[in-house]
Amino acid sequence: DYSAPLDDDYVVERSGVSITATDIIGEGHFGNVYRGLFTDKHGEQIAVAVKACKNSADRSTAEKFLEEAYIMKQFDHPHIIKLIGICPDTPIWIVMELARYGELRAYMLNNRQHLSLPLLTLYCYQLSTALAYLEAKNYVHRDIAARNILVADYDSIKLADFGLSRWIEEESYYKASKGKLPIKWMAPESINFRKFTAASDVWMFAVCAWEILMMGVKPFTGVKNNDVIALIEAGDKLPIPDNCPQRLYRLMLQCWSYEPSKRPNFVEIKTQLHDICEGDAKT
Ligand code: ADP
Repeated sequence: DYSAPLDDDYVVERSGVSITATDIIGEGHFGNVYRGLFTDKHGEQIAVAVKACKNSADRSTAEKFLEEAYIMKQFDHPHIIKLIGICPDTPIWIVMELARYGELRAYMLNNRQHLSLPLLTLYCYQLSTALAYLEAKNYVHRDIAARNILVADYDSIKLADFGLSRWIEEESYYKASKGKLPIKWMAPESINFRKFTAASDVWMFAVCAWEILMMGVKPFTGVKNNDVIALIEAGDKLPIPDNCPQRLYRLMLQCWSYEPSKRPNFVEIKTQLHDICEGDAKT
């Protein structure tokens, strides 16, 4: 069904993947996401998430669906959801590692009392390691936000949702069922000129880190998307979250430098967050 070049090691036997219709864990742009079990060649079983593409999808939609799998395939990082393989015939499935606790925002909102400051800063650090990895590969994510982070374990988060923002035209992104362009997370040059770079990912990372420190509160609530750019142009910044270490907030402020070249890169961010996690500087 799918004619783009596929390595054989990337295709998995459907018979090795078991899912049941009742095990829906999410709804994606192209179809449902199921929890399942994958049995590999050696008989080892692992828990997986299976993204199914609607059977009604035409060929070009199916190819777009598989784009995400292509992108994921290039990455191997402890804080990025791993691809296990695809079943390329209808129904097309993308099989990937399961993040047992689901979406980070919902997880944080439901577990507020268990979220300590060290844990929240650890999440930020883990995210920065994933983004430093992507930066080194010259990959720009463009949609870094808590809604795109999954929880694998109470002390381990994983970046998910690749590709969508990369292949979808700006226009259709606007119309994408999942929502609009993520204006409230976007750097000013992305809002003004649709410019997305490693430096705009840095801006988005800091908004996402803010959401994490706020335990799932979204940025600029009550502000209309159209009004956000005026706030940013006026120099407004998201306020320091309760209990946020000063040093971490200073790092966020650097990431929100209007001038992209003044923002730190992810290697610097990772180093600083490592120190913050170690409690090197409490000020
Ligand atoms: P799409 O990008 O195609 O719209 P998502 O990647 O957002 O779809 O997936 C939809 C939902 O499915 C997610 O919000 C999440 O709840 C769930 N989900 C997706 N991938 C996984 C995974 N690897 N582990 C656990 N849940 C997942």
